Amino acid sequence: MSGFVVSDLSVTLGGTEILHSVDADVASGEWVALIGPNGAGKSTLLRSIAGLCSYGGSIAIDGRDVANWSRREIARRIAFVPQAPLLPADMRVRDYVMLGRTPHIGEFAAEGAADFEAVDRAMRRLDLGHLAERRLRTLSGGEQQRAVLARTLAQDAPILLLDEPTNALDIGRQQQVLELVSLLRAQSELTVISAMHDLTLASQYADRLLLLAQGRLVAAGPPHEIATEALVATHYGANVRIVGEGGALAVVPVRRSG
Ligand code: ADP
Ligand code: MG
Repeated sequence: MSGFVVSDLSVTLGGTEILHSVDADVASGEWVALIGPNGAGKSTLLRSIAGLCSYGGSIAIDGRDVANWSRREIARRIAFVPQAPLLPADMRVRDYVMLGRTPHIGEFAAEGAADFEAVDRAMRRLDLGHLAERRLRTLSGGEQQRAVLARTLAQDAPILLLDEPTNALDIGRQQQVLELVSLLRAQSELTVISAMHDLTLASQYADRLLLLAQGRLVAAGPPHEIATEALVATHYGANVRIVGEGGALAVVPVRRSG
């Protein structure tokens, strides 16, 4: 298990400061949803934590600053699923899932028994066994998403970063993916941080919400404290009602006129 602490994190891209002194901590085994309007900096924050973008401030995993870690060391601790992962269209599912083992395989070394086992296990858990020999381009969108999750799982990293994992999925598949993450988290004691647009789903699955707006962390706490009519109005400019509570909380848009 792994928790991490982000301190005074600032990121500048193309000459503009995008994240301004963000402080956040995620406890080991916790699921935190990163919410906030388009352009708030959610993806940038996830990319920084994944070691894909340079930053000021510090990021520590289990109390150790990751600044000097190699990509490989970071990849053993953190699995990152970008918003729209580029899939090698002609690769077979099994080989693609094996890519998740890269951080564990020595340079110039071949895959070992442990790697094949991890790949088989990940494919079983995502119900991909029957698709193992299929090429990625022949899978449906939902199946491709499962392949991406299988690759991530094969990576065997204790921290999972998901950038809008349910984007472009129908309501059934959205629920499927989140239930799966929830199950994997319980089975493997994963720490999860996911950027999410659907505030209802974020509130139902995450232990805590972190609200980013214009590159700053403006609120953090349990869903009922953050998914409020006032905060959603202020930061999304949306008119909503909050219905229910706890794991059944729903954020419902309310038409202003008509
Ligand atoms: P979110 O994921 O919350 O929608 P992003 O982290 O993708 O937000 O983007 C935050 C801001 O950073 C946006 O204003 C975006 O235009 C800007 N941005 C992202 N990447 C770059 C880049 N490479 N160069 C300049 N600006 C960028
Ligand atoms: Mg984004």
